[in-house]
This record gives sequence, structure tokens and C-alpha cells, in this order.
Amino acid sequence: MDTITLTKKLTVKKEYDIIVCGGGVAGVAAAVTAANAGCSVLLLEKSNIVGGLATLGLVNLFVPMCNGRGKQIIFGLCEKWARMSAKHGFSTIPEEWREGEPKAYTEKRYTQRFSPYIFAFQLNEEIKASGADILLDCMACDPVMEGNLCRGVVTESKSGTELYGCKMLIDTTGDCDVLRRGGIPTVAGKNFYTYYGRLVTLESCRAAIESGDIRKAFVSVKGGGINLFGDNQPEDVPQWSGLTAEEVTDYLLRNQQVMLEGLKTSAPFSREIATLPLMPQFRTTAHIRGDYSLKVSDAYRHFEDSICAINDFEHRDHLFEVPLRTLCRRDYPNVLVAGRSADGTGYGWDLLRVIPPAILTGQAAAHAACMALRQRTAVANVDIKKLQTVLENDNIMIHFPDAYMPEDRTVVIHGKNTAEIEGGHM
Ligand SMILES: Cc1cc2nc3c(=O)[nH]c(=O)nc-3n(C[C@H](O)[C@H](O)[C@H](O)COP(=O)(O)OP(=O)(O)OC[C@H]3O[C@@H](n4cnc5c(N)ncnc54)[C@H](O)[C@@H]3O)c2cc1C
Repeated sequence: MDTITLTKKLTVKKEYDIIVCGGGVAGVAAAVTAANAGCSVLLLEKSNIVGGLATLGLVNLFVPMCNGRGKQIIFGLCEKWARMSAKHGFSTIPEEWREGEPKAYTEKRYTQRFSPYIFAFQLNEEIKASGADILLDCMACDPVMEGNLCRGVVTESKSGTELYGCKMLIDTTGDCDVLRRGGIPTVAGKNFYTYYGRLVTLESCRAAIESGDIRKAFVSVKGGGINLFGDNQPEDVPQWSGLTAEEVTDYLLRNQQVMLEGLKTSAPFSREIATLPLMPQFRTTAHIRGDYSLKVSDAYRHFEDSICAINDFEHRDHLFEVPLRTLCRRDYPNVLVAGRSADGTGYGWDLLRVIPPAILTGQAAAHAACMALRQRTAVANVDIKKLQTVLENDNIMIHFPDAYMPEDRTVVIHGKNTAEIEGGHM
């Protein structure tokens, strides 16, 4: 057998204003925001819990949401969820930030490490309260494109192959998978050798009991342990694009083998793997080629179409604004992205894809989609001033205050200057 032709007639099961593909933090933010704004919404998530890398991927840290000098930059749903995650799970919000923005100058940064699964359950409550529909264990496959317009999405689940109709589609798969299948231009990425899970050991259990801190019961168990800058990436290990089943499998099997080798040296009754990442810990496989790509050289630049201000999570001071154009394309009127799928270049993309900005771009994408529906226009053409007002009402900082800019605006990222870092994922 060389080829077969698949034909299947599908009837639209239900029509929605907006379909959100992928229930990571960006997708949940988009679905909840759009439903709260009065749109009918379907959120599709291929795994068993929501939260994406932040929960399934064990990346359970809100990276800094401030400028490193005691000024908060990230607010909106992110601020709400960071505080929410501290309610029923453990919390690591620094003392200085417990009651909100500190009154006095501090270089302590506003972060929060949270219980991934409890946070996922709290997100379920947010989705339920918003009235958005959700399907878990349901894969968003191909978008139905009529020219450059998206009319719906084909899903695969226990119910079989189904078709849902929509007026707007937001791709929050993290990998731009749905739009890529629809032929919308994307940019492929490369991934370093990173894979970690959680181990419990007799020593870690003892430490937890002695300190009364359950977090101490878990220690990291690593496959590859390479950081986001790729420091010490072994020469004999490939940088995976993660865009084929074979590459994903190679990444998983290599890393799991390294973990096993590490465990062979300790006694079987002294430790057990508590949990593994339930999705590949790829930072990027593909993101949209939007109408604008955020760059490190955009530091301290105001954009007329900014949808949120964000801070650099690794370095203090650096401030950025995210243009709506990083989430959409003028030639595709009713599709857009949020979170990891947004357009950035090199470390400029890293700034966009971490949890706090992912939540904000999810919120912004939802409001842009709702507004485009109401104004009967393309997402790229929405009235930007009106959109910014709606986002400000949601407590999002659109433009960073000039007073927060330091006198010396030289931007050095991980020891490299702007010219050295532009042009590739670090
Ligand atoms: C190793 C590593 C360490 C990191 N460390 C941090 C950190 O400490 N702090 C921080 O803030 N950020 C960190 N990040 C980045 C951050 O976790 C993610 O970029 C962020 O959570 C992205 O959210 P998202 O919603 O855009 O995408 P994702 O979290 O990737 O969510 C995408 C969701 O879509 C679902 N999905 C995918 N395809 C489909 C489909 N076809 N149909 C239906 N559902 C689909 C997935 O199951 C997933 O739930 C790290 C990332 C990595 C890889």
C-alpha cells in the first residue's frame, strides 16, 4: 500500500463565537476572559488537566512580575492567579510582596512558586465560573479554512472525529499547532536538553517532616539539565525542533534513559519518582510569524498598539511593551495566538512566553477577538484605543511609566549585548 485517501463528512456539532485551542495558562486566560466578556467559548485541551507547562510540565513558578526595584509591572489575571495559587497550595511570595506592592524600595523580586495540580483545579473553577465550555482529553486537529478565514476546527476525542464551528479561533497550543496545520506562517524553534521530574527520597521525607514544609519532600530528578541559554548543551545531543513524532520520541526516550541511569546507583526502597512532566518540556517548537516580532532592541520602547507592559524576568530594569501585532496577521482576519505561540525573536521571544506574559496575552487575545466580532472587523483592525481601555479596566498596565526607566539603558542579556543576541533563540 502506498497511499490512501481519507474522506469523511462531518456535520457541525455546535457553533461558538470563539474556540480556544489549548488549555495552558494562556488558553485558560483567553477562554475565561472571552466568556466573561459575553462570548460563547469552547476551550479544547488534549490532556487531562489544564495549565499546560505550568502544571503538566512542572514549571510551577510565576517568574518575577516586577522591575526588580519594588515596582510591579504585571497585574491583571496574572496577579489574581498568582495570589489564588497561594491560597490552597504552598506559597513562596516574598514577605515584602505579601500585601501588594511594597511601600519601600526593594530589590526582592515578586515571584510565586505554587502547587501545580492544586492550581490546575483552581483554574477549573475559574473556567466553570466564566461559563466557557471545556473538553478535556480532546485534541484540536485541523482548522477548517475557507481561504484565509477560519470556520471551525476538527477534533479527535473519545467521541470520535467531530467538527465545531467558530467565528474566531485562538491558538494557545504553545506550539501554534492548529494554525500551522491551517497553513498560517510560523517560525520553527530549537530546544535544549532539558527534562526534569520530581523524586521523593527517604532523606527528603525526613527533611519535610522535620521542617513541616511539604515542598521539601520533593527533589528534582533530571534527564538533561540545560538552562534556557543553552549553557553546556552536550555536543552529541541534538537541539530538537520538536515538530515530528520521531523527534519528540527521541527527546523523551533519551531523557528518560538518563534519569534511569541516575537512579540505578541508589537503593530501590530509598526513593521513588513522584511525578514526571506530562508534556514535553520544550520551550518552543513553533510560533506564529506575526505582523511584528518582539526583539530585545525593543527594550524601553512604547508601542501605539501595546496590549501590555512586561518586565524581563532574568534581569532587573528591562521593560518592554507587547504590540497586538505579535499575536496576529493582517492577512488572516479571524485567527490569533497567545502565550508561547506569540511572535518574538531570540530572547525577545523568551520574554513573551513565560507564565505572567502568557496569561496577559491570553487576556488581550480574548478581548481583541471579542471586540473584532462586535466591530465586525479583522483582529488586526480593532480599535486599539478601545481595546487598551478594556484591558486597563482589567487592571493591565499598557504602557510602562517613563519614571521606571533607568538612566543607563544599555541592555545586556546573560552577558551579551543586543547585537549579539538578536537573530536566534538563546
Ligand atoms: C523547561 C522549562 C522551564 C520553564 N520555566 C519557567 C518558569 O520557571 N517560570 C515561568 O513563568 N515560565 C517558565 N517556562 C515557560 C512557561 O512555562 C511556558 O512558556 C508557559 O507556561 C506557556 O504557556 P502557554 O499556555 O502558552 O503554553 P503551554 O503551557 O504549552 O500550554 C499549551 C496547552 O495546549 C495543549 N495542547 C497542545 N496542543 C493541543 C491540541 N492540538 N489540542 C488541544 N490541546 C493542545 C497542551 O496540552 C497544553 O495544555 C518554562 C518552560 C520550560 C519548557
